[in-house]
Amino acid sequence: MTENGKKRLFIKTYGCQMNVYDSARMADVLAPLGYTPVDSPRGADMVILNTCHIREKASEKVFSELGRLRAFKQAQEAAGKDMVLAVAGCVAQAEGEEILRRAPQVDLVFGPQTYHRLPEMVVRAARAAGKGDPKAGLLDIDFPVESKFDHLPEETADPGATAFLSVQEGCDKFCSFCVVPYTRGAEFSRPVAAVLAEARRLVAAGVQEITLLGQNVNAYHGAAEGGGTWGLGRLLRALAEIDGLNRLRYTTSHPRDMDDELIAVHGDEPKVMPYLHLPIQSGSDRVLAAMNRRHTADDYLRIVERLRRARPDIALSSDFIVGFPGESDADFAATLRLVNEVGYAQAYSFKYSPRPGTPAAVEDNQVSEAVKAERLAGLQQLLGEQAEAFNRACLGRRLPVLLERAGRKPGQLVGRSPYMQAVHVSLPALAIQRLKGQLVEVAVEAVSANSLTGRLIVDAEPSHPRPAAPSIATRSRISA
Ligand code: SAM
Ligand code: SF4
Repeated sequence: MTENGKKRLFIKTYGCQMNVYDSARMADVLAPLGYTPVDSPRGADMVILNTCHIREKASEKVFSELGRLRAFKQAQEAAGKDMVLAVAGCVAQAEGEEILRRAPQVDLVFGPQTYHRLPEMVVRAARAAGKGDPKAGLLDIDFPVESKFDHLPEETADPGATAFLSVQEGCDKFCSFCVVPYTRGAEFSRPVAAVLAEARRLVAAGVQEITLLGQNVNAYHGAAEGGGTWGLGRLLRALAEIDGLNRLRYTTSHPRDMDDELIAVHGDEPKVMPYLHLPIQSGSDRVLAAMNRRHTADDYLRIVERLRRARPDIALSSDFIVGFPGESDADFAATLRLVNEVGYAQAYSFKYSPRPGTPAAVEDNQVSEAVKAERLAGLQQLLGEQAEAFNRACLGRRLPVLLERAGRKPGQLVGRSPYMQAVHVSLPALAIQRLKGQLVEVAVEAVSANSLTGRLIVDAEPSHPRPAAPSIATRSRISA
């Protein structure tokens, strides 16, 4: 309990941006019960671990964290106070009963689709404790008929200059390696009016950049007020009309859902940033088919071509999995060829990790750890070289940067370029407070594989320059 009688709420978030968004909404749901977010589990009245199940060791990490938290909970109890310990998110969805069995200190376990019921769960857990049954362990991992979005309160925290806005959840695609369709449930899009209303509230609270979120965000098909449904392209156009909203992004997209309207919006709506995370996973058609991705490497390259025709300077990012069951040296070489052909500004790459319950996990042609490690190192070397080359091409350029937060070094603010690069800017102490949250013009003076460093251009009007991008052919020479 804080000095003003508020209860302390500590949320630890693992995994993707959707979990970051969900954690913020959990804090909103609990605010009317007097919970206020704090930065440490020590002395907290409630601790929530919002978990991710996408790769291996996720659940082991959660169990070891729960072990650590048991000591904090015991310290609270020794002081005559209580600590509600909750596990949320995809590990909770997948392993709820196992958590309650292995970690009896846990009071609540709930999945990603039920956190709007948190106040009710907290009261029920407290009632169980009052009846002398403090270890009743409440489990709520339904996929309820009602949408949590219809039951969430308006956002309470000051969002800052950038915010996430969840527009789509779940997945019906069932890639053979992935747990998301099982932990997040079927695909669902929020109605257009609800998305626009949330965006307007965020902008009124000072947000200048919104990133639309969804496991398959470009599969968005939200009900429109006049009837029918809107795709993501149309939604982005409507959002771009909001005064004061300067930048729009969206993630994560599936190649199959990159439709004409969405590609066109990159060409003619300047508020849509020239950056796209478009995972392909592998450059081999054989592996893509085994992954059930339902597109070929060539389909992907054609999409990239059309995107670059619409917005020549668009920066691309992707996810890759190496060592998928049955992946041969030739399949892996096809991935390297595709990376060379596309030329990425940045990318994420992972060793395949068998997820219980997914079809690929029971394939008998698993790739050895040593081969996975070797392929991952080779791929990351190439992707790192491309990221550095992309950043180097920005040296000497002026870029508009939305300064979001304090940097690691004193006197520094960090923001993002249109291409999603982190940009560090050193500023006089007096300017820091004034410029935090502002869109400014920066001259890029130094680059690394991960970020840019620049100098503020005073009195410059922020702009969205469209530097010529190297052609795909030039890009393929970045690294052999
Ligand atoms: N919906 C997105 C798509 O289809 O590209 C991806 C969502 S998933 C949450 C994020 C990334 O995690 C995937 O793109 C994939 O690269 C990686 N991933 C998912 N399951 C994995 C597994 N079993 N092993 C390794 N990486 C995995
Ligand atoms: Fe998972 Fe994305 Fe495939 Fe859906 S489309 S199953 S979220 S990787």
